[in-house]
Amino acid sequence: MDPEENGQGEEADWEEVVEMFSDSSMDEDDARETEESSSSRFAGLRHFNIVRIRDASWFFREFRGFNRPFSSGSEEEVQLTTPPNEESENSDGASTSNNQPQNFDTELPTNHSYLGRMESVSGVEFYEPGKRYKIHICPHHTVIFPGEILPVILSTSQAFHLTAQSGGHSVGLVFPPVGNEQFGVTCQMYERNVRNPLWKSDLRAKLRAHQRFRVCTDTSTQPVFLGDVREVEVEILPELSLGDPLSGHFRGSLHKFLPKSKRVKLLYSHARVWPLFVYEQYDIGKVMMKIKHFVASHKIENMPIDPIVCSFWSAKNLPLEQADREKIFATNFVEVRMQIIAEKLNDPYYYHCGECQQKVAKFSEVFAMSKDGVLASYCNPGGYIHDTVTLFGVEEDSVTVERSKSTQFSWFPGYAWKITVCARCQRHLGWQFVAEKKNLRPRSFFGLTQRSIVLKL
Ligand SMILES: [Zn+2]
Repeated sequence: MDPEENGQGEEADWEEVVEMFSDSSMDEDDARETEESSSSRFAGLRHFNIVRIRDASWFFREFRGFNRPFSSGSEEEVQLTTPPNEESENSDGASTSNNQPQNFDTELPTNHSYLGRMESVSGVEFYEPGKRYKIHICPHHTVIFPGEILPVILSTSQAFHLTAQSGGHSVGLVFPPVGNEQFGVTCQMYERNVRNPLWKSDLRAKLRAHQRFRVCTDTSTQPVFLGDVREVEVEILPELSLGDPLSGHFRGSLHKFLPKSKRVKLLYSHARVWPLFVYEQYDIGKVMMKIKHFVASHKIENMPIDPIVCSFWSAKNLPLEQADREKIFATNFVEVRMQIIAEKLNDPYYYHCGECQQKVAKFSEVFAMSKDGVLASYCNPGGYIHDTVTLFGVEEDSVTVERSKSTQFSWFPGYAWKITVCARCQRHLGWQFVAEKKNLRPRSFFGLTQRSIVLKL
């Protein structure tokens, strides 16, 4: 398969720019490593990301498009680039002598322990919603919602290029344009790796997304390139709620008479212009109850209680197409987001191969292997971020799983990974994870990368 055709076409411009300004020595090694990584399906496009750390330095990371999840090199190469990971073997807490079935601790993937030992970075920059600020931005390949965690790995040589830039430890990630507008999210570094003089240290960090913004500067007329860590004007978007749809009739001291039960609301609505179902369309509680039933039937846990947080969480964890996710991100009102989400909860969705459109898995197979939800971001040693959805199983004969397995840089401690490709077109779809210990449950599961699959009816 042509490496340029692995379903990331819309990002070609971003990557071309990176090519122009990519770093020299480190990249040559990595490029060679990529070339040596067997067939061309393991080569791919390139991406980058940039973070600004507290000591006023800017770092960028070029994300190479490895279709291989963790390394395109040999096991030996991985050993050289992977720092000692004390938690990798026994961090699931399972005792080898204990034969009782033990469920996987879903807290572990959220720690991203494959990044090595981390130390906290303090401080949070908060911007006032509705106001405009000049912040430094860099592009990112997909929508990141507030609250999400983004693991990143930045090489020393790549970081060197941006040390001249000013700043703290926050950065704005900007997504591919939606129509004529471009949106993004502010991100804060909250943990970074502990520097160790014994090996060549790169920068490994965890970012947390905070506030949505709209880019005010017309970026379409300005080329985006690596050296251009642009300071642009952005408008911080507010998180708004209309409140209870009946509350408009119970203002001020009358608010205590706002009907709570459905029976009273029904009685009240008889005296109003609109029937009750019209009001209920904007009733967040009702939509959240619907979401709750949906996620319970799919064994998805940790649904947030706060409606705004829940709207972002739902956009990531429920069966929504990319266009719906973008709509949700661009919407300020939580009620509108909930309406978009509620309309998508009834249909039997399937994940299809992004290349040949073959059905790969039912959405009902998804489950949360991480406390972050069914879909979370993970980073491979090359710095490439995979948004990975976890599933119990896939359709029969829809995928081919490679025989060889590895535990190196495993995102799920206690599990080895095997590369999984589409059985029809051989596109890389993700990985099968297999438990290394006999008593660990689940015994195996699949992690499919969002870049290679599409969700359709
Ligand atoms: Zn396919």
